[in-house]
Amino acid sequence: MKNLGLDTDSLDIRQPAYFDQLNAMLAFVSIHDWKTYLKASSIGTYDKILSKPFEKASFEYNKALSGQSTEKPRAQVIADAVDRQMGFALGQLYIKRYFSEDAKKRALELVNNLDKAFEIRINRLDWMSDSTKIKAKEKLKAITKKIGYPDKWKEYKATIDRSKYFENVVALRAEEYKYQSGKLNKPPYREEWGPSPSTVTAYYRPSFNEIVFPAGILQYPYFDLYADDAVNYGGIGMVIGHEMTHAFDDQGAQFDKDGNVKNWWTKEDYDKFRAKTQQVIDLYSSFTVLDSVHVKGGLTVGENTADNGGIAIAFEAFKMTKQGQDTTKIDGFTPDQRFFLSIARIWRVKTRDEFMRTYVNTNPHSPAMWRVNGPLMNFTPFYEAFNVQPGDKNYKPESERIKTW
Ligand SMILES: [Zn+2]
Repeated sequence: MKNLGLDTDSLDIRQPAYFDQLNAMLAFVSIHDWKTYLKASSIGTYDKILSKPFEKASFEYNKALSGQSTEKPRAQVIADAVDRQMGFALGQLYIKRYFSEDAKKRALELVNNLDKAFEIRINRLDWMSDSTKIKAKEKLKAITKKIGYPDKWKEYKATIDRSKYFENVVALRAEEYKYQSGKLNKPPYREEWGPSPSTVTAYYRPSFNEIVFPAGILQYPYFDLYADDAVNYGGIGMVIGHEMTHAFDDQGAQFDKDGNVKNWWTKEDYDKFRAKTQQVIDLYSSFTVLDSVHVKGGLTVGENTADNGGIAIAFEAFKMTKQGQDTTKIDGFTPDQRFFLSIARIWRVKTRDEFMRTYVNTNPHSPAMWRVNGPLMNFTPFYEAFNVQPGDKNYKPESERIKTW
């Protein structure tokens, strides 16, 4: 720790099981293999910013794992690199062009409506006791909402030289390391943003009890300032609802409303929750991705439960809007149908089989298709919107539809 410049007398280990395994491996893996592994890891840290042979080897390695056949265009590679190293400088330019004050206002309005819808649904839950409900609602109200970009911009002090790519990246990484290790022994900095504003992502962070939506995901097809509510509630609304439920799932339940590790469920309620998630595990384990590859129900249970809950909460919020209570068709589709079409639209992706094999084994999310078909086969309003009948491909009788949130 001293050599790393870290002055501390104790550590919280997030996943003790990992270190148990690592500890055991130190004894039985040969020193020769450790050397090879560490050498490869070290080179792997720099491969993309070194000369052509390294870059090419890195690409070939990635090709085996992902099936990617051609390298990204150079402009895209460099834009990604700038975003990764100086995302909060680039982000200021990004939001000027792609994220207006009006968009921020509407996105926040959406989040607040989802909030209300979730509270209504918590009140209505038949499996949660009143005492846990009170705690759940306290936690829901305490969630910090970060929309678009930070209030205070992170500054970069490293010297950037146009002619020195490698050195620039290393200098910025060193600065980042110093920044991160500087947090040690200090109270948490709650204003902090993880990803840059242009990143297409959303997350719930249990230790801060916060949900974060960078401007990058507040774009079409997730969100469009000028689209009707059905499109936005089905799109970004599902994502927002999904993140909110993470505050209450098997991981979120271990943190209280202030982000401290403290379980707030009664044992009985938690057992009931676990029984529900077991149903989710069983259902998703039955989904086929490729010939012999199935979704890993256990690995993806938290995310699948969030997808199911997210759609239900988003739909509840949508039904509170003017359009949600209306039946006027747009482009031949009812408001409810447009809501569900929007869900399907945000998960349109194309992947290669190699990528899918790695993804299914390592990613806690289900493949995109099952992030749509999985929750919708459990969601009765979808059946009603499209008149789904017994005999239709993903039909499930009402009694088998899983409902958690
Ligand atoms: Zn998630």
